[in-house]
Amino acid sequence: MANKLHEGDLPPGLFDGVTSVAIDSETLGLRFRRDPLCLVQISAGDGDAHMVRLNRQTYDAPNLKALLTDPAVTKIFHFGRFDIAMFELHLGVITTPVWCTKIASKLARTYTDRHGLKDVVKETVGVDLSKAQQSSDWGADVLSPEQLAYAASDVLYLHAARTRLEAMLNREGRMALAQACFDFLPTRASLDLAGWDEIDVFAHS
Ligand code: MN
Repeated sequence: MANKLHEGDLPPGLFDGVTSVAIDSETLGLRFRRDPLCLVQISAGDGDAHMVRLNRQTYDAPNLKALLTDPAVTKIFHFGRFDIAMFELHLGVITTPVWCTKIASKLARTYTDRHGLKDVVKETVGVDLSKAQQSSDWGADVLSPEQLAYAASDVLYLHAARTRLEAMLNREGRMALAQACFDFLPTRASLDLAGWDEIDVFAHS
């Protein structure tokens, strides 16, 4: 189990043959166009986390972009709507295909309204995540070991959470509904960027 920091881009071929990766990102805030994308964390579900610190002048990261758009690799997120929109805005790519443990949790765990990453991972994987570094400075010249450990922890358990949530969705007969939501998610992110972030286009009024 290792946390590895890469400057600017992923090394080539790092995830060759992998069919799913867990992804999260860190930004300087939650507002599109004000807050830059700083860090992208990726895990193949093997206990290792690879973190890419992006060049915020160029966002030139061809290997990362190839992974995000690789049709053979499912990208697993928790609330992917935000990360996918940030990737479209800064990296110019539509991330696909995707899986979202937050959407899955909302469709499967109807007995609770606790769908944050901490609650979902605690119940489905049995791991207690620390959120202590959540609001730290991801634009700093040197990221601390505590920041990197926090960033890594956000992707290390998503494969296990997905497996458990998938079993629950199948049990409840909702996997097809969930898959349709995942397929729509990149479009939902594009709507956010295009000005429909507060508007539900399916709503009556
Ligand atoms: Mn995170």
